[in-house]
Amino acid sequence: MSERAKIVLKSGKDQSIMRFHPWIFSGAIKKTYGNLQEGNVVDVFDNKDNFLGCGHYQVGSISVRILNFEQGNIDTAFYYNRLEVAYALRKTLLLNMGDTNVYRLIHGEGDNLPGLIIDIYDDTAVVQMHSVGMFLARDIIAEALQKLFDGRLLHIYCKSGATLPKMALENETKNYFLLGNKESGTVKEYGIEYHINWVEGQKTGFFIDQRENRKLVGLYANGRSVANVFGYTGGFSLFALHNNAKMVHTIDSSVKAIELTNENVALNFGTEHNHQGIAADAFDFFTGIKDRYDLIILDPPAFAKHQNVLNNALQGYKRINQRAFENIAPNGLLFTFSCSQAVSTLNFRKSVFAAAANAKRKVRILHQLTQPADHPVSIFHPEGEYLKGLVLHVE
Ligand code: SAH
Repeated sequence: MSERAKIVLKSGKDQSIMRFHPWIFSGAIKKTYGNLQEGNVVDVFDNKDNFLGCGHYQVGSISVRILNFEQGNIDTAFYYNRLEVAYALRKTLLLNMGDTNVYRLIHGEGDNLPGLIIDIYDDTAVVQMHSVGMFLARDIIAEALQKLFDGRLLHIYCKSGATLPKMALENETKNYFLLGNKESGTVKEYGIEYHINWVEGQKTGFFIDQRENRKLVGLYANGRSVANVFGYTGGFSLFALHNNAKMVHTIDSSVKAIELTNENVALNFGTEHNHQGIAADAFDFFTGIKDRYDLIILDPPAFAKHQNVLNNALQGYKRINQRAFENIAPNGLLFTFSCSQAVSTLNFRKSVFAAAANAKRKVRILHQLTQPADHPVSIFHPEGEYLKGLVLHVE
């Protein structure tokens, strides 16, 4: 441990880390000692030389992401302990998740492992690193994972090509199997089956974070005509079909996504179903469909990936929601989401409010939704709350 580089913070800049916020911004640093290399574990001290924590050093406005607020090695045992705590929580959650074998095991800061995502697809783990430090630790993380699952994990796929900082580790392979070689498989969410390809699919293969919200759509779907806009693998559609919706249409601009949805519909319902996949741009789709649907889901991709495009994103949410309000049938239900971390719950609600006002519809909020419990938010790191949703009744 003695060779670790050391970072000393400016006076007064230790307040947030004292309250367990895991990010050290570059502007808080007074002095550095030793060899600072992206990905290394560094020790952080206040300006009176009191130890505050250790974490991965990175280049950029966030300089350190704290792994441990106590002294200690960052080794296999450290990762094993963190994984064990996370797994114990997931086992509790799984008791109430019906017939489900796809879930998030590690949700970055929410599981005290900033920069690391691990999603479980039955016998396969997909690990996704968002920092160089986590990527460099991939082998010991894989080792800890295997020990934790004690032979039940047969494949571990590292999928960090799109999530590591652009210039980092340019010559390294970032997408490859750390264990086994299975590229796709069938998993279950509340008994509903999905064929998922984690190698080719978006994110780690599936939007696990919408599980509880899909279930809620199911509870309202009976007898309704459903448009699942931005549908991807069709999760919301499958729950609506399973719960006796009158008809379900899945809309996505990606032809591949519509193929995946059709495949998943066939997997669950064979050829006996009232589903149709439509490859179209969401904004165009709303032309000429007035009153056709009385349950609409809007789950667009993150319109704001960064704070500086926030205004455009809010306009985007307003426009797409306005299209839905203008066209949904009377007494319709609109499930509308934002997964942009940069868009606050209040700002999202204001955009939807402006959309409702412009469309001149009477709208009430029935439910306020968020991410599920396997995507926990550290109370010290509110930035971890990214998914917001509203269920609206439209007169
Ligand atoms: N609701 C999905 C996740 C949606 S991800 C689920 O439950 O799994 C967002 C989707 O929006 C992606 O599949 C992407 O292909 C699609 N998309 C992006 N821009 C679009 C547009 N302008 N029109 C329609 N679909 C779009």
